Amino acid sequence: MKTQKHICQSCAAPLSQVFEMGTEKNGTSSPYYCRRCYIMGEFTEPKMDVETMHENVRQRMIKLKFPRFLAKLSADSIFTMKRWAVGASVEEKPAVLIVK
Ligand SMILES: [Zn+2]
Repeated sequence: MKTQKHICQSCAAPLSQVFEMGTEKNGTSSPYYCRRCYIMGEFTEPKMDVETMHENVRQRMIKLKFPRFLAKLSADSIFTMKRWAVGASVEEKPAVLIVK
């Protein structure tokens, strides 16, 4: 696989453990999405839009006590995610997310 990103391509959650990964229709782990976003080959919230997700991620980061600029930076990475970047190349704009 080309991409080295181990974050969910929908909500930017880190995917460091197999149990955090979503599942495909056949039950295998999804390499792209977390289990909160993607179960059995379908998005858990198909009506979610990118603006809402952006705000969710920003709020989550703030709750986790990240500095606000970092919260915004991470939330902005949502726009380059596979789920949201329609017609845009994800490869060209690597997401900025610091995972410790
Ligand atoms: Zn996710």
